[in-house]
Amino acid sequence: MRLIGINGGTFDPIHYGHLRPALEVQQSLGLEQVRFVPCYQPVHRGQPSVSAVQRCEMIELAIAGQPSFCLDTIEIDRGGPSYMVDTLAALKQRYADSEESTALVLIMGTDAFANFHKWHNWQEILRLANIAVTHRPGEALPLYCQAGQILRAHHVRHFSQCCEQIVDVPVTQLDLSATALRNYLHQGQSVDYLMPPTVIDYIQQHQLYRDAKGN
Ligand code: ATP
Repeated sequence: MRLIGINGGTFDPIHYGHLRPALEVQQSLGLEQVRFVPCYQPVHRGQPSVSAVQRCEMIELAIAGQPSFCLDTIEIDRGGPSYMVDTLAALKQRYADSEESTALVLIMGTDAFANFHKWHNWQEILRLANIAVTHRPGEALPLYCQAGQILRAHHVRHFSQCCEQIVDVPVTQLDLSATALRNYLHQGQSVDYLMPPTVIDYIQQHQLYRDAKGN
C-alpha cells in the first residue's frame, strides 16, 4: 500500500515546525511523499496575512531540494472555504486510477487534532484517510475530551488499512508558530534559524509581515 502524506495548514509563513515534523513522519511511516496543502480560506481562524500566491512561493522555496515534498495548490485552485473533507475526496479521486492502492495520511499536530471533532464532516475525513498525529510542544495528546474518544476508537500502532486508522508519531519538539514569527517580523526582530534562509530572503525582498500584528 502506497502512503501519501497530506500536510495542510495556513503556512503564513512556513517554518521549521512544519518542515522537520513532516520529514520525521515521512521517514517513520514510510510515506512516498508529503504534499503541502496551503488552505485558501481557513474555516476555523482569521484570514492569512499575505496572499495565497506568496504563501505558495514561500512553501516552494522551503521544500526545494527535498524530493519527497511537494506543493499542492488544490485548495487555492478550488477557492472558497477550505474544507479538508473536500480536499481529501478530490485527492482520493485523483489516485483512484493508480495501479497500486493508495492511502492518504492526513498529518496534524496535537493542537489541530484536539479540535478534530469540530472539523466539518470529520467522520467522512476518517472514511477517506488515515491520520498521523504529531506531538506539538505544550499540547498533549488529547485523551479524555471528544477528540480523545475519536483517538482511542481509531488508534493503531501501524497502519494496516487505507482509512479509519490513527497513529501518533513522536517528533522533535520545536516550539515554533507562525504567529510568533509574524510577531518577530512585525517588531523588526530576526527570524534567523527558525525558518529556511530562502524564505527569510523572500520575506525581506517582498517586505512581508511588517505591518500586520501576529494574530
Ligand atoms: P499560526 O501560528 O498562524 O496558527 P501555525 O504555526 O500553528 O500557524 P499552521 O499553518 O496553522 O501553523 O499549522 C498547520 C499544521 O502544522 C497543524 O497541523 C499544526 O499542528 C502543525 N504545526 C505547526 N507548527 C508546529 C510545530 N512547531 N510543531 C509541530 N507541528 C506544528
